Amino acid sequence: MERTLSIIKPDGVSRGLIGEVIKRFEANGIKIIAMKMVHLTLKDAQAFYAVHKERPFFNSLTDFMISGPIVPMILEGENVIEKNRTLMGATNFKEAAEGTIRRDFATDIEKNIVHGSDSPETAAAEMAFFFNHFEINQR
Ligand code: GDP
Repeated sequence: MERTLSIIKPDGVSRGLIGEVIKRFEANGIKIIAMKMVHLTLKDAQAFYAVHKERPFFNSLTDFMISGPIVPMILEGENVIEKNRTLMGATNFKEAAEGTIRRDFATDIEKNIVHGSDSPETAAAEMAFFFNHFEINQR
């Protein structure tokens, strides 16, 4: 069993897509074992996306991520890091496969509805960023 961090970004929350995203996870055999709604400060968003701090889109991305509440979740399942990335689709929704979350709902390379950890190492760090031990459930 593997775990990963998913986030429904501010555009997904404001457009009423929380249920749609969760429905896709559950329909694909992925278990949600932690979930909450939070509104990050700029400092939080900059820390979360620190790996991108040299990128030209860093300020725009962090401003977007604090533009409204987000829904971080821990997903559990076999091969769930890759499975979640497949359900999300490519970063750029124009390149995302048919039927993926980003292809169906993203409006922009930045406003792409969901985040998903890309490796076991980033998953561990990102899960710890949002959740403490009593927020993570056995199901
Ligand atoms: P992800 O793993 O598919 O989310 O993609 P990355 O880790 O490369 O980028 C993190 C996030 O930064 C993406 O999900 C987008 O929201 C945003 N992003 C990536 N590339 C660009 C870009 O070229 N321009 C802008 N404005 N945002 C971007």
